[in-house]
Amino acid sequence: GPAPESDGEAQAWLDARERRFGLFIDGHWTEPGETFESRNPGNGEVLAHVTQAGADEVDAAVRAARRAQPKWAGLSGHQRARFLYALARLVQKHARLFAVLETLDNGKPIRESRDIDVPLVARHFYYHAGMAQLQDAELPDRGALGVAGQIIPWNFPLLMLAWKVAPAIAMGNTVVLKPAEYTSLTALLFAEICTEAGLPRGVVNIVTGDGQVGAAITAHEDIDKIAFTGSTEVGRIIRKATAGTGKSLTLELGGKSPYIVFDDADIDSAIEGLVDAIWFNQGQVCCAGSRLLVQEGIADRFHAKLKARMAKLRIGDPLDKSIDVGALVDPVQLDSVTRMVEAGKGAGEIYQTPCTLPNRGCYYPPTLITGLAPSDTLMQEEIFGPVLVATTFRTPAEAVEIANNTRYGLAATVWSENINLALDVAPKLAAGVVWINTTNAFDAAAGFGGVRESGFGREGGWEGLLAYTKPKGKTRPLSPITA
Ligand code: NAD
Repeated sequence: GPAPESDGEAQAWLDARERRFGLFIDGHWTEPGETFESRNPGNGEVLAHVTQAGADEVDAAVRAARRAQPKWAGLSGHQRARFLYALARLVQKHARLFAVLETLDNGKPIRESRDIDVPLVARHFYYHAGMAQLQDAELPDRGALGVAGQIIPWNFPLLMLAWKVAPAIAMGNTVVLKPAEYTSLTALLFAEICTEAGLPRGVVNIVTGDGQVGAAITAHEDIDKIAFTGSTEVGRIIRKATAGTGKSLTLELGGKSPYIVFDDADIDSAIEGLVDAIWFNQGQVCCAGSRLLVQEGIADRFHAKLKARMAKLRIGDPLDKSIDVGALVDPVQLDSVTRMVEAGKGAGEIYQTPCTLPNRGCYYPPTLITGLAPSDTLMQEEIFGPVLVATTFRTPAEAVEIANNTRYGLAATVWSENINLALDVAPKLAAGVVWINTTNAFDAAAGFGGVRESGFGREGGWEGLLAYTKPKGKTRPLSPITA
């Protein structure tokens, strides 16, 4: 197959910074203080030492954001748009470096970081640059919220940053963002391009570290909004911590999204869709189609075809351009997936892609477990790995019932050649997003988010923008009414 993508430029970028990173506060880099290791999950090697921020540094970042905010919001939408366009162009200019760094840090296949993550990031900034330009004309009565605290997960490090930062700064907010501890590096490169773009200091501040840093952001009294993407468990903690404060809150949490295949579906397309739904990013996707529901009459044929397709998946070095499945993000995540499958697999029948896994790094084979009952633990709990669990149904009503039998409600996918059936089923599914005869379709212009324990609020589209605004208080003198 093709040669592995070279990581020379990314390694040189890390070397030039002595592989030690401080925090990006008020347009400046702090001295690296207490640090933790960031490793490459593809081979276990240490990539860099990243600062564990303390509460004082979070406070300094919030104060910088607060100082910068009035002037930033005081610019016209057109003026702010220039900076967002510059950021979009710089993401494209450094696209290769961003993609390789993301793959080194996260373990996702280079094909995905290069062809999906980074282009979507650029598109997100272009789109929101356009929305900033529209603000004066289209949203004259809405102003910025103020300072946003943004806490993001490790599965799409740069893309989740873009989803948070772009709408916030487009609408005149300033931000304090914390990347996940496993994957800080592309956020730190992004901080550098903020400087390259000439973004006024304090508009974007990046603080790194573990959940304690997230907790310090959540608890800070001078933050107007918390935007969180991550697990349902931490989302619950954050909701409690912000309850009764004046902070706005959006939560994008976990999922266990159903992938429903009716007996009249185009089976080959449904199988290709399924490969994307569950093995994209090693299944570490909040909206992964991780629960397969196949109509009884075609189940045996469908599972056989699926196994044949799984046998062709290539697992290995994330930098290898020909692989389909890379490494999980960290040994902790690998452990959690391994333990969940061990504990639950007896309830069904397990098939794994026959392959030799690299002997270093966090690799787990693509896995299918069929014959599960809808109430089995593996059908209920988010695994967040390359593991598809499956059951069957008889009627459309039963499909809807099983699909909705979960505490989550992020996404759902329906496959059928009968569009009347698909359009009848789709609105009955408890999900923020429903895809018909396609899956994982994302667009900056379409709001994304969940219902039930998958969270609330939307990112992208008008709703995502409005979530970073509030009504502008307007007063005008009343003239006395004269009869
Ligand atoms: P996580 O909840 O463990 O961590 C997310 C972020 O929260 C990290 O930056 C972490 O450091 C921080 N954090 C941890 N404890 C905290 C605390 N007490 N207070 C404040 N911040 C804290 O989640 P994860 O393991 O990084 O990500 C995986 C989860 O994210 C999955 O459940 C997945 O479904 C979900 N996710 C959801 C979406 C979505 O859009 N709905 C997108 C991606 C991931």
